[in-house]
Amino acid sequence: MDADTERTGTYLQRVMSEGCSFPRFCQQNKVNKKMIKKLAISALVLLLAACGEQQAASSFEGGAAVAEQKSFEWKLVTTWPKNYPGLGMAPENFARLVDRMSQGRLKVKVYGAGQMVPALEVFDAVSQGTAEMGHGAAYYWKGKTPASVFFTSVPFGLNAQEMNSWLYHGGGMELWRETYEPFNLVPFAGGNSGVQMAGWFNREINSLEDLQGLKMRIPGIGGEVITRAGGEAVTIPGGELYTAMQTGVIDATEWVGPYNDLAFGFHQVAKYYYYPGWHETGSTLELIINKDAWESLPDDLQAMVEAAARTVNQDMLDEYTARNNAALVQLVDEHGVQLRRLPDDVLVKLKTITAEVLDELVANNPLALKTRDSLQAFQAQVTDYHEISEEAYYRARRLETESTVQP
Ligand code: CA
Repeated sequence: MDADTERTGTYLQRVMSEGCSFPRFCQQNKVNKKMIKKLAISALVLLLAACGEQQAASSFEGGAAVAEQKSFEWKLVTTWPKNYPGLGMAPENFARLVDRMSQGRLKVKVYGAGQMVPALEVFDAVSQGTAEMGHGAAYYWKGKTPASVFFTSVPFGLNAQEMNSWLYHGGGMELWRETYEPFNLVPFAGGNSGVQMAGWFNREINSLEDLQGLKMRIPGIGGEVITRAGGEAVTIPGGELYTAMQTGVIDATEWVGPYNDLAFGFHQVAKYYYYPGWHETGSTLELIINKDAWESLPDDLQAMVEAAARTVNQDMLDEYTARNNAALVQLVDEHGVQLRRLPDDVLVKLKTITAEVLDELVANNPLALKTRDSLQAFQAQVTDYHEISEEAYYRARRLETESTVQP
C-alpha cells in the first residue's frame, strides 16, 4: 500500500468512526469503508483528468497557495434517514469525496430527513438557499414542475444504463437544467437504484382481476396507474410500511429491491415477492445545488463537485447490483420467499394505462412534453439497439448455462 492510499484509509477510518444515528445500519456502514476508500481514489483520478494542465500548474505553487484560497462550508439536506443504506450513503460519500479532493476547501455537512428540514421540503430549502445542497429524487417535485418525473424514472421507461446515457449523452441533462432553472437550482444525477422489484404482495397476482381493490403502497406515476387498473394506491413513509403490511392496512407494497427490502423485513409480513419493477425501471437520484451557491464556487471546486457527483451516481448502481444479488439469494434460500413474475396481460394493461397517464401529464406543459418526447425518442432507439446487444447477450448467456448443466 503506498503512502497516499494509506493516508486515504486513515482519513476515511476517522470520518467513518463518527456516530451513526440509524443504529441498525451501522454494521453496514463498517462494511462500506473499503468501498469509500476506493471511491475517494477513483474520484481523484477522474478529477485530475478533468482539470488537466491547470490543476497540474497550480499544484506547483504548493500548499501556501491552496491555503489562501477561499473555503466553503455547505449544508446538504436529504430526503432519506441519516446514513440510510444505498440511497442515503450517496450524499455522505459525496461529502467525503469533495472534502478530500478540495483539501478541505469545500466542506459539506449532510443532514438526514427531519434533522434540518422534513424530507419533502428539500427542494424548497435548497431553492431558497436555506441549504446549499440537497439529495433526493426529482419525481417528488412533480407538483412543482411535471417534467421532473422524467428525471427519476417513469413506468416502462429507461433502465439505469440507458438513463445515464440519456442524461449525459442524449440531451437529458440539458432538459433537467432547463426544468430547474426557474427554481434557482442546478441538478446533478446522484445515484441510481437500478430496476426495482414490483413489490411484496399478500396474495398472488394471476390476472387483472387480482388487482381489483388491491390496496398498495406505490407512489408517483406507478401509483396512478395501479389506481386506474382497479387498485388503490396509497402513500406511506418507508418506516411505517412493515406495520402497515403486518396489520393488513395495505395488501401490497413496493420499496426498492432485495437489499433494502431485506433490511426492512418485508419477508416476515408478505409471502410473494413480484418482479419486474415496471414502475421504477432505473430510478435516478438527484443532487441539487442552489444556483447562487454553485456560481460562487471557483472553477476547480465546480469540477470537483461534478466529478464527485458522477462518481457517487455510478457507485450507487454498482453497490445495489452487488448487494441486491446477494440479498435475493438470502430471501429465497434462507427465508423461503416465493418469487413471482407479473403475468404478461397484467403488464400490458399497466403499460397501456401508463401511456394514458403520461399523455395527460404533458398535455398542458410544453417543457414536460418536450422532455417526454426526448426520452421516448431516445428509448425507441436504444430499445432497438439493446435488443441486439444487451438483451441478445443475456439470452446467449442463459443458453450457454443450460447447455452446460443439461448433458
Ligand atoms: Ca420504489
